[in-house]
Amino acid sequence: MFHRVQNYTILLLIFPNFAFISPKMCTFAENLYFTTINITMMNLNLTNSIKMPNHELRRQVIELCEKVEKPLLKLSTKDYVENGLGHLVEQFDGQAGLVNIEVFNELQHTITGWPGGKPNVDDSTRPERAKPYPKRVIVFSPHPDDDVISMGGTIRRLMQQNHDVHVAYETSGNIAVGDEEVRRFMHFINGFNTIFANGSDEVIKHSYQAVKAFIKGKKPGDLDNEQILRLKGLIRRGEARLACEYSGIDSKHIHFLDLPFYESGKIEKLPMTEADVTPIIELINEIKPHQIYVAADLADPHGTHRKCTDAVLAAIDETKKAGAEWLKDCRVWMYRGAWAEWDVADIEMCVPMSPEELREKRNAILRHQSQMESAPFLGNDERLFWQRAEDRNRETAKRYDNLGLACYEAMEAFVEYKF
Ligand SMILES: [Zn+2]
Repeated sequence: MFHRVQNYTILLLIFPNFAFISPKMCTFAENLYFTTINITMMNLNLTNSIKMPNHELRRQVIELCEKVEKPLLKLSTKDYVENGLGHLVEQFDGQAGLVNIEVFNELQHTITGWPGGKPNVDDSTRPERAKPYPKRVIVFSPHPDDDVISMGGTIRRLMQQNHDVHVAYETSGNIAVGDEEVRRFMHFINGFNTIFANGSDEVIKHSYQAVKAFIKGKKPGDLDNEQILRLKGLIRRGEARLACEYSGIDSKHIHFLDLPFYESGKIEKLPMTEADVTPIIELINEIKPHQIYVAADLADPHGTHRKCTDAVLAAIDETKKAGAEWLKDCRVWMYRGAWAEWDVADIEMCVPMSPEELREKRNAILRHQSQMESAPFLGNDERLFWQRAEDRNRETAKRYDNLGLACYEAMEAFVEYKF
């Protein structure tokens, strides 16, 4: 959108009487227009060039801990030398203890119960800055449940700590809803018609019959019609609203973007284009967040997460190119959880959860009822999403514990995206 305006501007600067020029000139002008579009084309593949943090020392020392099965602070010079890492000890005045404490402190500083920054304290070693407080936050969620699966605990913390949290659901998620969910809701609305209107609402009566007949006549591999897709999208919206409500998010802060690339009605999606980026540019410029959370869980089977994150990163890129001042005071955090987890060596912010907080996170995920055992696309992993999330969050906590850091029930992990 931005650059299109820009290009018209360029064109009008060159041809101020654009509306009155001859057809020949018009063709020339159009060619010029398309040429300039190519020059300033949005970069829609930024996930390919995400730079991971260079935590080389941390990575080597953690690997050593795991190999010799010792916590960080118990590694000896002998452990380093016998495993080809004697040079690290040399770099720290020949003292293994200094290497140990360096890496221990680095990891210690990734842990915070204040994902939006802790107000009124020294934040020099904290992963997130103290000011401004409270922060405006946008969580981008590719499907209507990735927000709570990946960072449900962090969202609740942000809410409890009075930040202004928005959630933007990028796709409708309509193809991942089973037909029985639609039937269940149609039975309900038909019953509602009977209870409150004595069955007099003809629209409900007819729609109920039509939906029932369509689903009954569906053969394996048949695509849904538009009405069924809209109903399935509506079911997911309802679940997302319930989960947000459970986390305390204001209903006005829930945004359903329904990005067009997803709306093919089938597994193969449409190509991601600028039309998918524009609503994100508009949203971020309206809210001007201090924090953006985005999915870096790019291993989902049909590539939807990658396209969604490409769209967010393109929106940030375009907004930066447009010179938005607010963006200088915005940090972008990447989450995982539904399909993969960050390696401890990469983590830059780690938000711990107590057993109760983990249960609350599970409760938020369970609001997404259509995604339980009957959901069409759970992948090869037998576990439901709440189980995967808990296993991964417990595993991260266990790895921190094994390294000799504080022992928590579970942890959600984030890496900062630099732009
Ligand atoms: Zn997803």
